Amino acid sequence: MAAPLLTTASGCLTDGDTLFELLDGGLDPAALVAARRHLAACPHCRTEYVHWRAFTAALARTDHAPSASPFLRARVVATIVHQRPGVGWPR
Ligand SMILES: [Zn+2]
Repeated sequence: MAAPLLTTASGCLTDGDTLFELLDGGLDPAALVAARRHLAACPHCRTEYVHWRAFTAALARTDHAPSASPFLRARVVATIVHQRPGVGWPR
């Protein structure tokens, strides 16, 4: 007997996080098989999957990946340190 399709209440991977978990490699093996079976049977989800896979691949290739400046990182750390009771910068 074939495993059931991985679906949500309305029947598609795109209704929740399943499509993005699939793209991120976060599905367990059984869920991965079910998601692939659903993609093979559902043109809507297959189109969304192809679109988002291409988008994430293009984003990974960009040289403009966001990164925080040293100044911003220092301010974030300082804010965290000063908000914890009993913790502060060494004096
Ligand atoms: Zn679908």
